[in-house]
Amino acid sequence: MIFKNFRISLLAVFLVLAGCYTVPETGRTTLNFMPEDLLSEQAAMAFAEMTQEVDLSKDRRRSERVERIATRILRIAIPTGNLPPLEQWEFVVFEDDETINAFAMPGGKVGVYTGIMNLAKTDDQLAAIIGHEIAHVSARHGNERISQSMLIAAGGVAAGVAVKDEDEETKQAVMLAYGVGATLGAQLPFSRLHENEADEIGMIYMARAGYHPAAAIEFWKLMKANASSGVAEFLSTHPSHNTRIERLQKLLPRAMNEYEAAISGR
Ligand SMILES: [Zn+2]
Repeated sequence: MIFKNFRISLLAVFLVLAGCYTVPETGRTTLNFMPEDLLSEQAAMAFAEMTQEVDLSKDRRRSERVERIATRILRIAIPTGNLPPLEQWEFVVFEDDETINAFAMPGGKVGVYTGIMNLAKTDDQLAAIIGHEIAHVSARHGNERISQSMLIAAGGVAAGVAVKDEDEETKQAVMLAYGVGATLGAQLPFSRLHENEADEIGMIYMARAGYHPAAAIEFWKLMKANASSGVAEFLSTHPSHNTRIERLQKLLPRAMNEYEAAISGR
């Protein structure tokens, strides 16, 4: 029993040493030991199920608009962003005016709700949302989240084994890991750290694609105004709108350099 416990701890140490990932643009070192291909497969299945269950927008113009902007951003983001190839990406518009949200899954499955599209009046504003979602994939935030959960689960097994039935503990740890793997994306809001990082990388991506980065600030001001009129769902799990707007303003000069380089090169 103790021997097996020791092996699990060793496994945890090995996973930490083996699986690090450097986030493009920010250079942050992250824990990423899950095979990205495996996560992409799981996400693709979860996404396919979701598109069966949730109403898709019947307005072709909406999905075409999302696809056009996403393609333009991906063309510049893929070469440096450790991103899946263009043909692997899928962008779906969900018909739900109450949900002011968008999400991205590993492997490039992105959902955008009509609720958030209604707020983004210009293409530049919508590019801020799409850039942010692509940035989550580039930074492999899904992988980091699951890696952390697995590590906590493995630690739990090691700690709990002395007093509890080991098989039950191991089972729970595996269940937790699978549970997290199965629901990644929509149900699990990313932490503030992930949100801030996706804002930063997303702003760079949109600017490089020739979308005006100040539109990200405009968009979050719209979100703030909208939240005070009652829709506060997005607030609880995300940085406050004021903090977010302040951070984006600090990031603007770097993004403006990218934007000016992009439009002068046309
Ligand atoms: Zn996000």
